Amino acid sequence: MAAAVSFLYDTFHNRRRITGRLVTLTPLRIGSGEAAPDPTAVDNPVIRDAYGRPFIPGSSFKGVWRSFAEQVLGQRENGDRGCCDPLSASCLSREEVKELKKEHKDTRRLAEEIYTRLCPACRIFGSPHFAGRLRVRDLLPDGSTWPGFCEVRPGVAIDRDTRTAYPNRKYETEAVPAGTVFIFEAVVENAGDEEWRDILLTLLPFTRGELSLGGCTGRGLGRVRLENTQVTSVTSANLREFLARGWSGLAPLDLESACREAGLVLGGAEDV
Ligand SMILES: [Zn+2]
Repeated sequence: MAAAVSFLYDTFHNRRRITGRLVTLTPLRIGSGEAAPDPTAVDNPVIRDAYGRPFIPGSSFKGVWRSFAEQVLGQRENGDRGCCDPLSASCLSREEVKELKKEHKDTRRLAEEIYTRLCPACRIFGSPHFAGRLRVRDLLPDGSTWPGFCEVRPGVAIDRDTRTAYPNRKYETEAVPAGTVFIFEAVVENAGDEEWRDILLTLLPFTRGELSLGGCTGRGLGRVRLENTQVTSVTSANLREFLARGWSGLAPLDLESACREAGLVLGGAEDV
């Protein structure tokens, strides 16, 4: 057990950075969730940063990554899922944590007890009781690929019973045009070997364009592909170099090499 939980956060073991370019293969719609204050503006605007540029919140990317990981990680032999659904039944309830806190006054021991009870997805992506390994930064557009405007897609509200359009219920929805590239960066802290393999394994479908982001994915929107993926690793062996020179002072590996180094067996080179 000691080996499995040795990677808490009180000691540095490793830090990895994954970078890449996320290309929108079809228009991408991540709504701001707010009504536009300007009455002449589009009804359903995309989320934008302070400079008016659309961006992809890191939490949106991480949410899709996590949902996929929950489906595939830790599968049991009987076909049951090995990960909890944190929205309905978490792998570790507040009551169980309360009990553990009563039982273990030593904070490191308590952290170990909590960690060992978490499912693989909660260990990597986080739970209310334990910080996850993974942080995904907000993805900003590459200025050379962002055309400076969004597509506006007209729609009309349909009455479900009569299957006819409601009068005066037209609306407009914004979407980022296909071909826009967003800059991807994720940082992984103190992941154990198995966690790191799971992180890479569940990232691979993004590199094949198999997962979609945002809204209206049923209508074909939000198909994305992660390209030029690179991994930079810091361990105790090059920690001093990293502290002195930062990420740019370390040589990255391409994703295929990083996967092989982590012990994953891949198919053809075109997979990555
Ligand atoms: Zn869980």
